[in-house]
Parts: sequence; structure tokens; C-alpha cells
Amino acid sequence: MRRLARAFVVLLATGLVFGLAGCERERAHNEKFLALGTIIDVTVYGTDEKLARQAAETLRDDFEYIHVAWNAWHPGTLGRINQLLPTGHAFTGSPSILPLILKSRELEEQSGGRFNPAIGNLIALWGFHSDEPPQGPPPAEDEIRRLVEAKPSLADVEIDGVTLRSINPEVKLDFGAFAKGYGIDLAVEHLRELGVTNAIVNAGGDLRAIGRHGTRPWRIGIRHPRAEGVIASIEIKGDESVFTSGDYERFFMWEGRRYHHIIDPHSGYPADNGSTSVTVLHHNAAEADAAATALFIAGPAHWHGVARAMGIRYVMLMDNDGTVHMNPAMAERIRFEIDPAPTVVLSEELS
Ligand code: ADP
Ligand code: MG
Repeated sequence: MRRLARAFVVLLATGLVFGLAGCERERAHNEKFLALGTIIDVTVYGTDEKLARQAAETLRDDFEYIHVAWNAWHPGTLGRINQLLPTGHAFTGSPSILPLILKSRELEEQSGGRFNPAIGNLIALWGFHSDEPPQGPPPAEDEIRRLVEAKPSLADVEIDGVTLRSINPEVKLDFGAFAKGYGIDLAVEHLRELGVTNAIVNAGGDLRAIGRHGTRPWRIGIRHPRAEGVIASIEIKGDESVFTSGDYERFFMWEGRRYHHIIDPHSGYPADNGSTSVTVLHHNAAEADAAATALFIAGPAHWHGVARAMGIRYVMLMDNDGTVHMNPAMAERIRFEIDPAPTVVLSEELS
């Protein structure tokens, strides 16, 4: 519940749609509901109220379904797959989840194994699988080492049509870094089918926007990782997603150290390569979600190469000193909302 309360505050703080004014406000319809451990906020612009309501209802059903079906730890489509994978036997996986597995397998490879949804056992060992954030202590070192050395990967899952089989008993699928993005893409597809062309689907600050807000583009806020409110804003061009991964979302403090929920699969520990938060701007929400997680793990020294490998063209990374690293195309899109603006290090172009 605390997570939800915080998500709500973040949602208000990031504001997301700046400056809705006068008569335009009347044409923007907004609905919120809970799913995937956060608040889903749907804003539809320029339709009649009936269609806006219908759209929000449809999305509510979609996310309720996803919440159950794609949860690694509850009985449901993915929960069942996770029970069968360690047996080493072949079984029929639900066709609805196969595209997620195939897509994330590709992204795992592109990210050099940084984004790796097969490390569910590590995530559970740290306690980041539960609705309530863990309190510590951190798990035993030898347990962590054992799971890292088992090298679980989606490459260990053989897929033949709808038949799945894992050749590694330590593979457990957790789509916590991907389901929100994938779900938002499905939601946007659904909105378009309904005839909605201007909308934002926002899940706790991660979002995809399509169309415009009347005569103006959508302008959205990016949460400050170390202070209340917004650090920067960005104008959305037509159809784009903005996803942020940070060490502030879910963490516990233990003996003066911060242990957060983004686990580096190569060390088994919360990623410690110098990132505080990473924002990715990309057309597709699923890829943006996976990339934000992978680039956070890559850190200030390696994000550029990983972004290239993943086909990402707009990145903003804040490091542990508060310095912001961006590629030039991202810098052109970002407007800082704090004074003084942070120190910026520009990278080479990404595209
Ligand atoms: P958030 O959901 O807070 O925006 P992310 O998208 O970065 O943050 O997802 C973090 C979640 O993804 C964790 O709670 C965990 O379930 C899962 N996860 C953690 N580390 C990894 C990783 N290296 N690869 C894939 N999934 C991960
Ligand atoms: Mg992510």
C-alpha cells in the first residue's frame, strides 16, 4: 500500500500534462485505476465523453488481465510457466505470453545480458518480488553467488511453437522491468482500435503518448531522483514513450547502504555502476522499459554502447554525483525545470 501511496504522489508531482488551459481542459478526459502495483492514469483528448469513458474501461480490463496473467509470483499464466520451467520437461505455454518471452529474449541479448527477465530467483532472494519492499538484511553472499553462477538466461528456454522447455533449472521469469512497457503498447493499440488518436497512458510516471493535446504537443515531466518534483520536461512528438528507471523506486537501507530493486545479473547485487536514474525516450514502450533498466545497470561508463546495441536514440542518465549524461539529440529535447540546471556531459551522437 505504501508503494501505491508513493506512486500517487509521484504521479501528482510529475504532473505529466502541463498547463491544461481553459476550454481545452474540457476536452481532455482523465481516469485513474490501480494495476501492476502502480496507478495507471489514462488521459484521452478530443473525443466525446462516452468514447473516453469506454476507452478507460477497456484499458482497465486490459491491465487487470495483465496484472494477473503476467505476474511471476501468483497463480496465473506466467506463474504456471514458472512452476513448469524448473522441471526440465516440455510443456505448452500460453500463446498470450509467448510474444513477451520472444521479445524479451531478443532484448536480453542486445543488452549484453543486463536486462534479463530470467533472474526471477535472484529478485525473489532479494525480496523485490513482493508487493511490500523488503527491509533487509541483504541475502547471504553464497546464495547470491550460486544463482549468478547458474547463469539463468532466456536463451536457456527452448521455444518450439507453443512448446517451452528450460535447459536450466534456475530460470524463473520476472517481467517486472518489461510488463509495464509491453502492457502500455497493447493499451495504445487498443485505444487506436477504438478510434482514439490523442492520449497518454501513464503507469506511475512511465508512459506512452500519442497525438497531441489540442493545438499543442504533450509536455511531460521527469521526476527528480533525489528531490520532490520534476527535474526536466520533454515535449512529445506524435507517438513516443518515456520510461525512467531509478534506484529510488524500491529500496531498503541496511547499515548505511542503499539496496535497490534493479539487480545486475552479472554480480547478483543491486546495480552499482554509478547510475541514479535513467530516462529513455523511444517510440515503443516495451523497448523503452527494458532499455531504461539495462542502461541503468550499464552506468555512465557503458550506457552509450548498450544504447547503440539496443537501437535507442534518446537517453538521459543521472550519475551518483548528480551529473547528467545525454546524447546531443536528447539534450535538444530536454528542458531542465530546476535552477541551477545540473552539469551536463554530452556524449557522441547515438544515431
Ligand atoms: P520500475 O518498474 O520501478 O520502473 P524497472 O523497469 O527498472 O523499474 O524494473 C525493475 C523490476 O524489474 C524489479 O523490481 C524486478 O522485478 C525486475 N528486475 C530487476 N533487475 C532486473 C534485470 N537486470 N533485468 C530484468 N528485470 C529486472
Ligand atoms: Mg524497465
